[in-house]
Amino acid sequence: MIETPLFCGRCGVELQPGSGDFFVVRIEAFADPSPPDLSLEESSTDARRRLKELVAQLNYTSEQELMDQVYRRLTIHMCNPCYRIWIENPAGA
Ligand SMILES: [Zn+2]
Repeated sequence: MIETPLFCGRCGVELQPGSGDFFVVRIEAFADPSPPDLSLEESSTDARRRLKELVAQLNYTSEQELMDQVYRRLTIHMCNPCYRIWIENPAGA
């Protein structure tokens, strides 16, 4: 197995596997998984037209782009100091 060097995703410091000096952070993000609210009033004609537009749009989008739009999974590594700062405000800039 080839050892690829690991770097902190925030500060870029090199991390040493086995030294316990970093965290692995897995991020899974997906678009609103709830089914569309059908109680929202929309005539079936409108719905059909929107569906047609959507399908036309999809034909121009690659499968990968489509996946990226609804689902992303990332794994990042962070050194301890960066992790401690990040975990307090993971959604912050
Ligand atoms: Zn760092």
